[in-house]
Amino acid sequence: MEDTIFGKIIARKIPAKIAYEDEQYIAIHDVNPQAPVHLLVLPERHIDSFREIGEFPAEEAKRMLEFVADVAAREGLTDYRVAVNVGPSAGQTVFHLHWHIKGGWV
Ligand code: AMP
Repeated sequence: MEDTIFGKIIARKIPAKIAYEDEQYIAIHDVNPQAPVHLLVLPERHIDSFREIGEFPAEEAKRMLEFVADVAAREGLTDYRVAVNVGPSAGQTVFHLHWHIKGGWV
């Protein structure tokens, strides 16, 4: 596990508000929400950013996307935005892949 804040959350070294989890993925509430509902999906497998997505086994990548959709559905979101910031100038501040799920406007 790489030494990022999300790596520490996944390793349960620091607390987070966990919404859902399974063996490979965890969904937490963003500490600084930018929408009425703002969750982050973190894979336990470490890659610095989406740029390295090719390092994920295909089935694991598919399950990650399904987990994102499942989390949104469990939160009762019908309309929502999924985003990944890739690189500092695009807004990435934590260098462990994570998917933003933002919704809850209606
Ligand atoms: P990004 O800017 O795309 O790298 O997203 C990082 C996100 O992580 C930001 O929206 C932060 O508000 C959020 N964040 C940072 N630290 C924590 C934390 N300890 N628990 C939950 N969310 C966090």
